[in-house]
Amino acid sequence: MNPETLFYIIIAIIVIDFIIDKILDTLNAKHFDDPVPPELSDVYDKEEYEKSQRYKKERYHFGIITSTFSVLLTLGFIIFDGFAWVDGIARSFTDNPILVALIFFGIIMIGSDVLTTPFSWYSTFVIEEKYGFNKTTKKTFFLDKIKGWFMMGILGGGILALIVWFYQFAGNDFWWYAWILVAVFSIILNMFYAKLIVPLFNKQSPLEEGSLRTKIETYTKSVGFTLDNIFIIDGSKRSTKANAYFSGFGKEKRITLFDTLVKDLEEEEIVAVLAHEVGHYKKNHIIVNLVASILTTGFTLWLLSLFVGSPALSQALGVEEPSFHIGLIAFGILYSPISEITGLLMNYLSRKYEYQADNYAKNTYGGEPLISSLKKLTKNSLSNLTPHKAYVFMHYSHPTLLQRFRNLKRGL
Ligand SMILES: [Zn+2]
Repeated sequence: MNPETLFYIIIAIIVIDFIIDKILDTLNAKHFDDPVPPELSDVYDKEEYEKSQRYKKERYHFGIITSTFSVLLTLGFIIFDGFAWVDGIARSFTDNPILVALIFFGIIMIGSDVLTTPFSWYSTFVIEEKYGFNKTTKKTFFLDKIKGWFMMGILGGGILALIVWFYQFAGNDFWWYAWILVAVFSIILNMFYAKLIVPLFNKQSPLEEGSLRTKIETYTKSVGFTLDNIFIIDGSKRSTKANAYFSGFGKEKRITLFDTLVKDLEEEEIVAVLAHEVGHYKKNHIIVNLVASILTTGFTLWLLSLFVGSPALSQALGVEEPSFHIGLIAFGILYSPISEITGLLMNYLSRKYEYQADNYAKNTYGGEPLISSLKKLTKNSLSNLTPHKAYVFMHYSHPTLLQRFRNLKRGL
């Protein structure tokens, strides 16, 4: 295919993706003022509901501004040969393809992060602050950025360097090596996430002896689940929003509860949330997700190997000499419609799994405490009670509160 056609396809993909996204956002926003379903009428009182309405609308308008800025920036960068310019800068330092790729992506990543920092600053210190969510200090905000860059540099940079090196000695067969590397890396990361990554950003402490711990242990024993690692994390350092998650497997498996969750919920409700997480583990969702992501990675890398060496890819972005890193950027954009589809499938699967985990919690512990915990969590994060179907289908990894409520009530 000639580079000019490819160039127009790249532009079209970015524009169409943006338009679809904005149509979905608008559709969703049109239903912000829909009547609240009767089953959920006790989530908010009148004043809180009005507050949640203002929050949704403010987030929606802010989303339009940030996404428009980022799409214009991307288009401008492509049209005015920005990638060729950065490639030239990287090449002025060295001829080594690995170093050129590292410098190239370093500039792109840090440049785009710096340009979008004012938006994340506004989001945290203006919007989240106004609605009482923000607990982040300015110091934490900047430290998070620096730590994020540092981590990206070491992990992302390390993987990129190895992949470019594989490409140099194995040519188009590099994808096998890259696949094994990424698969091993994601298994290790999944396994040791709580020990390696989380401590950089948060403090975790084991849940202390007491009535909550006793209730949890009574429950886990009743379902034959050995869980030595229950940790409380200081989520309150950044936001009042609450969460709980499962990580690792085998001996490394652990459940992490946000301190905000422990503060907001009754003990029975916390055990119900934990029972839901145990459900994910017992139903093998963790393993299936990991395997699915490894298979998708293999498919993507194989496809990349077919196209990355083609001069047309690099030339479409204004770079004469074909090189791995420019091919990777062009491929990334051309691949995005496919990744939209795999993302949709993953969301669909994830929503199915949420029902399964909810049912597990209902059958082994109880539906009522889970319902009341979901309602409280919804209220405390001012979440939308009336999302549009199409928006849910595309973006939601969890069923809506109403769907989960109805599923949990069934048979109770
Ligand atoms: Zn879940």
